[in-house]
Amino acid sequence: IEYQQHYFPGSRQELLQAVKKSVKAKRYQHILGVEQAALALAAANQVDLEQASVAALVHDYTKNRSDDEFKQAIKQYKLDPDLLNWGNFIWHGVVGAEIIKTELKITDTAILNAVRRHTVGAKTMTTLDKVIYVADFIEPGRDFPDVAMARAIAKSDLDQAVAFETKHTLNYLLNASQTIYPGAMDLYNQLVVKN
Ligand code: GDP
Ligand code: FE
Ligand code: FE
Ligand code: FE
Repeated sequence: IEYQQHYFPGSRQELLQAVKKSVKAKRYQHILGVEQAALALAAANQVDLEQASVAALVHDYTKNRSDDEFKQAIKQYKLDPDLLNWGNFIWHGVVGAEIIKTELKITDTAILNAVRRHTVGAKTMTTLDKVIYVADFIEPGRDFPDVAMARAIAKSDLDQAVAFETKHTLNYLLNASQTIYPGAMDLYNQLVVKN
């Protein structure tokens, strides 16, 4: 895919180089897989391919940054101080979006929101948000017992794939006695009301 609409001030190759420099090798491979999955989902759900590509390539751009950098950024960008009570899993999306804006000069709100929402989703999600949320879960490098099921659902119905992933992730977190970010419950409640 050739970039033409300037969601990023440069070519796809230049964006790839910037992303590669920002993350570990394994993370970079995951990111390329997410782009591949996101392009397929975008095509099937009438989402702009360039927007999907840029969002996918940057979604984990800050995943390997230090806790200190995130804590400093929360203050610098005057983000909700409650974020300080959480960790990398939420920071690399919500705080990551601000760092992406600054370092990569990406200003498209739809792309930045998709990054913010890619880990726990949101009560209301755009189709681009859903594409990135689901692509992150089903990209070719993912390997967990239900991934084949998730891929099959995603192929036929994006909203059902969002619901499947949300329940799957919450189930996993409860089972592992992990803390649940309140925003994650917002999406779950929304899905239960709808279905
Ligand atoms: P990744 O960045 O590609 O690994 O994927 P995600 O951004 O979707 O998720 C990052 C990590 O956050 C994963 O290990 C998830 O299991 C975890 N995670 C997602 N939601 C929550 C939550 O509510 N609480 C906690 N503790 N972890 C979560
Ligand atoms: Fe992530
Ligand atoms: Fe995810
Ligand atoms: Fe990811």
